[in-house]
Amino acid sequence: MEKKNIDWANLGFGYIQTDWRYVANYKNGAWDAGALSADNMIVLNECAGVLQYAQTCFEGLKAYETEDGHIVTFRPDLNAKRLVDSAKRLEIPVFPEDRFLEAIDQVVLANEAFVPPYGSGATLYLRPYLFGSSAVIGVKPADEYQFRILTTPVGPYFKGGARPLTVRISDLDRAAPHGTGHIKAGLNYAMSLYNIVDAHNCGYDENIYLDSATRTKIEETGGANIIFITHDHKVVTPKSPTILPSVTRRSLMTVAQDYLGLEAEEREITLEEVPSFAECGLCGTAAVISPVGKIVDHGREICFPSGMNEMGPITKKLYDTLTGIQMGRIPAPEGWIRVIK
Ligand SMILES: *Cc1c(COP(=O)(O)O)cnc(C)c1O
Repeated sequence: MEKKNIDWANLGFGYIQTDWRYVANYKNGAWDAGALSADNMIVLNECAGVLQYAQTCFEGLKAYETEDGHIVTFRPDLNAKRLVDSAKRLEIPVFPEDRFLEAIDQVVLANEAFVPPYGSGATLYLRPYLFGSSAVIGVKPADEYQFRILTTPVGPYFKGGARPLTVRISDLDRAAPHGTGHIKAGLNYAMSLYNIVDAHNCGYDENIYLDSATRTKIEETGGANIIFITHDHKVVTPKSPTILPSVTRRSLMTVAQDYLGLEAEEREITLEEVPSFAECGLCGTAAVISPVGKIVDHGREICFPSGMNEMGPITKKLYDTLTGIQMGRIPAPEGWIRVIK
């Protein structure tokens, strides 16, 4: 397979049109057979549920080439499952998990020429999503839906090394108790845009959200879960029903325990105990882990000993081990790598 003529190493994280996307439609109470489409445009009723009441949810994962030349995805079954959970909470008909996995395989194979070569650091980002496509004006779920998977090649997240981030404690909230913080809904992102633009204008890379009930406990950022490392090398991550269950974070906790022999614990973490940690990182599909060098809480600077120049040593081990597993350099736990080709 001839790869597209793309400067893989210098790709950013933006939309680039690829040749094929997967499309399935839900009508009269059932999903159709679904098919690949060459058309990257969607024609929608002006009153579509997604446009009026934001009835939509999504997933994010990547396909890439391993060291031995296979094309694979990483734990796509967890994305399939999470999309089911998101759909249920938004009254969107579930797209079956087995069909999700087959559709991913199909759309990746069709776009094989866009799967970046091993070693480039780039990947083919996959964006599955569901949305209400039929007209609704009274507040209710739509009758018709579309499931799509678009693909776009994205560049290496860390060009020239991982620069530790400076993040602030947010004054705004992300997720209400018993709300939608635990699902991957577009609405959670729409309402975070104001705050991320403001954070950037104020010189911060990200917002850390506190639990909105008590505003004393650490939750996550707008699009990544958080891990902390204690001085005695324990990996801890916040436990809360309003955090989105990151596939990356769940995988890192397993890597910490089973590959690095570290203790890993999910528990409530208060803002007040943050200065006692040795390292901090943000985890998600795009970056795997972004190191945090400094957290600013209204003028109070919490600086981690790992500093502003490099990843902390434990964060680095976690990063190297998980990316090694993903790229096929380190044996993966059973079921973590889905070989497409
Ligand atoms: C997608 C997402 C993450 C990261 O999840 P991964 O499965 O690791 O990519 C974390 N937090 C939020 C709010 C998200 O939407």
